[in-house]
Amino acid sequence: MDALHERSAAQVARAVNAREVSAREVTDAVLAHVDGIDAHVGAYLTTLHDLARAQADRIDERIRQGETLPLAGVPVAVKDNMCLEGTRTTCASKILEHWVSPYTATAVQRILDAGGIPIGKANLDEFAMGSSCENSALGVTRNPYDLTRVPGGSTGGPAAAVGAYEAAIGLGSDTGGSIREPGAFCNLVGFKPTYGRISRYGLIAFASSLDQIGPLTRTVQDAALAYDVMAGKDPMDATSVSPPPEEPAAGALRADLRGLRVGIVKEFATQALGDDIDAVYRQAYRDLEALGAEIVEVSLPTADYGLATYYLIAPAECSSNLSRFDGVRYGLRVDADDVTQMYERTRAAGFGPEVKRRILIGTYALSSGYYDAYYVRAQKARTLIANDFKRAFAACDLIACPAASQPAFTFNAKSDPYSMYMMDYYTIPMSLAGLPALSVPCGWVTPPGGATPMPMGLQLCAPIFAESLLLGAAHAYEQATKHAEKRKPVFPEGARA
Ligand code: GLN
Repeated sequence: MDALHERSAAQVARAVNAREVSAREVTDAVLAHVDGIDAHVGAYLTTLHDLARAQADRIDERIRQGETLPLAGVPVAVKDNMCLEGTRTTCASKILEHWVSPYTATAVQRILDAGGIPIGKANLDEFAMGSSCENSALGVTRNPYDLTRVPGGSTGGPAAAVGAYEAAIGLGSDTGGSIREPGAFCNLVGFKPTYGRISRYGLIAFASSLDQIGPLTRTVQDAALAYDVMAGKDPMDATSVSPPPEEPAAGALRADLRGLRVGIVKEFATQALGDDIDAVYRQAYRDLEALGAEIVEVSLPTADYGLATYYLIAPAECSSNLSRFDGVRYGLRVDADDVTQMYERTRAAGFGPEVKRRILIGTYALSSGYYDAYYVRAQKARTLIANDFKRAFAACDLIACPAASQPAFTFNAKSDPYSMYMMDYYTIPMSLAGLPALSVPCGWVTPPGGATPMPMGLQLCAPIFAESLLLGAAHAYEQATKHAEKRKPVFPEGARA
């Protein structure tokens, strides 16, 4: 059996429920590992030693009382844009650097009620805007498979934490790819459920029509476990939906793909991504077929407009959502002679360059005179993209495509905003359509000039509310290929691993 901190969520919960090990022992093992290596990885902005131990003792008491808990003793990394009462929630921004959550997000609360242990609040791109975690104003997070490379973003901290065994479940948010891309970069399963499936109450809003919470885990089974706990209607989030009557995802894991049609997207041909990467995806599609799936070609003719559409809608919503950070109520205030100057100075000092760029783009797109030309047209394009998916799903049950066009890159490799935005080319269309999608490890590629092979992710996408089908199929693929197990993270000499 693996060392305590290396166990999956399912393994931990089983052992703690069976009283083979206590939640406290697991928690102490994970915290000792975090103390040994997080100086190198930088996954956490805040570690919660006392809170974690107190929660572990509470869980052990509940187990002693005879309860069985789906996540008993499971160590969890929470992206630092989700509230956890009494802890800092910074959004990796100077403007919220010292802000303490007055309440707990519904998704986080459900994880805690199910027995999860909050190990820490993990790093992200400032306000979840970015694809590498380099936009964090508060810390550097490194990829556990090569510390000279980024973990992906914006959920880079939780991805690095789970990849480095500093947690078994990472809670992330995905607006345009922020769970799936770091999942791919860190050899994980990164799962974004259907829009509305998990309450966003207590998730600090970036783009409210796109934001969705989901798990990052080392196995599909763990993703299903975390999802089953978090999903469902919440009276505090009007966009949350009740699950239709279906089996829990954890009970729908399949052994093969017989009877399923998997659509390969004509417009997402992988030849242009280079021979190595092309070979990885061709093999992945062959493996799906070998598992019994019927491979069909589908077309998403307007998906190519996804990026342009997203970079109008997301900034427009962000410019509105972030207007609340003005020095009056939340976080940083830079004093001035009058209130307008106070707003200006606070926002100039508190927001980083990418956040400012988004606010400017969004404000412009929403301004009278440009509203119809940009914002309204983007909404129309969004509908066309969603319609493309509807048509495609008439011919297939699942869609398979890359999660990202390349493996994790080195720091400062994407120096202009556009090349960073391109990292979400394959994930944004699903976000605009509100569809459930995940990334699952599908092979290893040595990047040009790189010293070690880095993981790649296969993206699978299902129709709205078909999470159980999606996770079930991903499990069959994962178990047949076992790509994630081929390499372990690397840590410097002397660091505990
Ligand atoms: N990388 C995209 C962006 O910067 C997506 C971010 C996200 O999903 N939160 O907006």
